[in-house]
Amino acid sequence: MLDIQKIRADFPILSQKVNGKPLVYFDNGATSQKPQVVIDAISKYYQEINANIHRGVHTLSQLATDAYEVSRGKIQKHLNAKHAHEVIFTSGTTHGINAIANGFADFLKPGDEVLVSALEHHSNIVPWQMLCERTGATLKVIPMNENGELIMSVYDKLLSAKTKIVTVNHISNALGTINPIQYMIDKAHEVGAAILIDGAQATPHLKPDVQALDCDFYVFSGHKICGPTGIGILYGKEEWLRKLPPYQGGGEMIATVTFEKTTYADLPHKFEAGTPNIADGIVLGTAIDYLNEIGFDNIAKYEHELLEYATEKLSEIEGLKIFGTAEQKTSVISFNIDGIHPYDIGTIIDKLGIAVRTGHHCAQPIMDFYQIPGTIRASFAFYNTKEEIDVMVEAIKKAQMMLS
Ligand code: PMP
Repeated sequence: MLDIQKIRADFPILSQKVNGKPLVYFDNGATSQKPQVVIDAISKYYQEINANIHRGVHTLSQLATDAYEVSRGKIQKHLNAKHAHEVIFTSGTTHGINAIANGFADFLKPGDEVLVSALEHHSNIVPWQMLCERTGATLKVIPMNENGELIMSVYDKLLSAKTKIVTVNHISNALGTINPIQYMIDKAHEVGAAILIDGAQATPHLKPDVQALDCDFYVFSGHKICGPTGIGILYGKEEWLRKLPPYQGGGEMIATVTFEKTTYADLPHKFEAGTPNIADGIVLGTAIDYLNEIGFDNIAKYEHELLEYATEKLSEIEGLKIFGTAEQKTSVISFNIDGIHPYDIGTIIDKLGIAVRTGHHCAQPIMDFYQIPGTIRASFAFYNTKEEIDVMVEAIKKAQMMLS
């Protein structure tokens, strides 16, 4: 059993008032709040060991380098990656996806196919479209059904020897659907395709085991898992990271440079050009330690309770429709109320201190599928409470009365 009040005390922002009301923060899908240990670790880094890494012989540089590499090791352990050099620091999920999509240009030719799912965030659509435009490959879409689930029988049919890479999120940000990624990974490999998993929405709720999954790439953002913004992780299997060209050129990623030819540094540095985001890379390790201390099993169990409670309470509101009713779902509820624009509800409940997301959630194809302009999305974290859900439900009822 989690002691939620104790956990809430770790997050200074949660005791704030917004618009004169206690903050109810249900926009965790966009970014999570940060515990005091994470906030403190950022200032500790700058107060005590700030220096550039991997190049200095002086003590601070070595301390910073060690802390950065210790963090990489923590992330390796967290993901159960085989090697620390399979863990690349990026600026976030978007950066990780772009690095791989860009690298795949070397492997694609006209007639080849890239499979994306209908449930993707724009950042897992656009880089692949750009790749297909560059190479003449074709982008194919794994469709979804009314419940917000990917249709596996069509996925099976779309896969062929032409498929070079499949890309899918572990969990949909717009609907909360948990996708059958193990099945999808196994099937992709049967036809010799690589597969990238966008773990941006999964890593806040579960601990992925990349070796058990056997995925080729797994990407996520630090800011959604209680870490700082501007840091993320690209996990790649060693064989793929060796084959792929570097994404960016610059310092840190080279072995030797002459004007005739440059040779690249070994992994992971080949994919880490320039001075990295040292402080936030180190602090991402702190955030992961914090979450592991709470325990992902505890987090998942409690968040599921919140999901069930909120689903039940929201369903009592007349005219409210939930989008995304997959059996396997995480703590995200996307909904609309008959005849009312989501933006209007969002604006009114914000005045009551409640932060939810409204709009297309960077997933316009999903909104097009349902033929709606957007939804209201409440996404819960382990520091939220049932009482907060009650506050939101009452606020929505109030907004509904005002607007209808
Ligand atoms: N994929 C998914 C599923 C997401 O939810 C997000 C963030 N909303 C992203 C990718 C992009 O993450 P970032 O903006 O941190 O790069």
